[in-house]
Amino acid sequence: MKTYEFNKLQKRLRHNVGKAIGDFGMIAEGDRVMVCVSGGKDSYTMLEVLMGLQKTAPVNFELVAVNLDQKQPGFPEHVLPEYLTLLGVEHRIVEEDTYSIVKEKIPEGKTTCSLCSRLRRGILYRVAKELGATKIALGHHMDDMVETLFLNMFHGARMKSMPAKLISDDKQNIVIRPLAYCREKDIGTFSAIRKYPIIPCNLCGSQENLARKKVKTMLAVWEREQPGRVVNVFRAMQRITPSHLLDADLFDFEGLQLELADELSDLDTAFDFELPAATLGLDAGQKIMNFTRLK
Ligand code: SF4
Repeated sequence: MKTYEFNKLQKRLRHNVGKAIGDFGMIAEGDRVMVCVSGGKDSYTMLEVLMGLQKTAPVNFELVAVNLDQKQPGFPEHVLPEYLTLLGVEHRIVEEDTYSIVKEKIPEGKTTCSLCSRLRRGILYRVAKELGATKIALGHHMDDMVETLFLNMFHGARMKSMPAKLISDDKQNIVIRPLAYCREKDIGTFSAIRKYPIIPCNLCGSQENLARKKVKTMLAVWEREQPGRVVNVFRAMQRITPSHLLDADLFDFEGLQLELADELSDLDTAFDFELPAATLGLDAGQKIMNFTRLK
């Protein structure tokens, strides 16, 4: 990739992260953001982009990178400390043998990921408190979010995904996903060019999540048939019309009366298709532009 194209890619990633931060109020003055770094392409990219934005953002915030060494066999424990030291970012490596717990509790052949992630989450929440972090940043991106939406619909009969900002289960932490507006393809290209020291995620020996893999393939086929479909699904998650769905907790169908017609928007026009607004993130407001201003 030529330097010009790389600069464009870097600018796009920074812009998208800055816009997501602005849109969801992810980072405020004085925040101390704990950036969870797993050794995968997504978290390396998130850390680098956040470090870049930190220099130009209109608010001051601190970053502290955290890696959880789960004691999986073959985990190259020197890689992240060396890399993070070289980067000059404050960091902490947390060693907790969740691998043995998972192996002990889950029978052979059963999927281990849900217990493993629950344990990891609990540890990260605890570490955030120890470090005095006010936000916990995770490296999920747009494609993860769209996949999760379909996984929840297909397997949980529920329309929900990964929010860009949420309160943790223990009610002690705010979790943010600054890569929410970034595409996996961009992150993959960026990561390859930056030659990050990637640590493979299958060291635990667990089977790749088959259901997620299937949804990924389904979306890839759709995207080939109609480019832009993933972005449109993502946009749809930001433009919900409760009166045109079926959740009576979200909309008072029982109390729907003709007298209310003037107070409601959409009415039956919500059945019409609209051309989606150009590409995501191109209409950033001044505040966001300031946030993403490059040096
Ligand atoms: S793939 Fe392995 S390390 Fe990753 S969540 Fe699943 S069990 Fe844990």
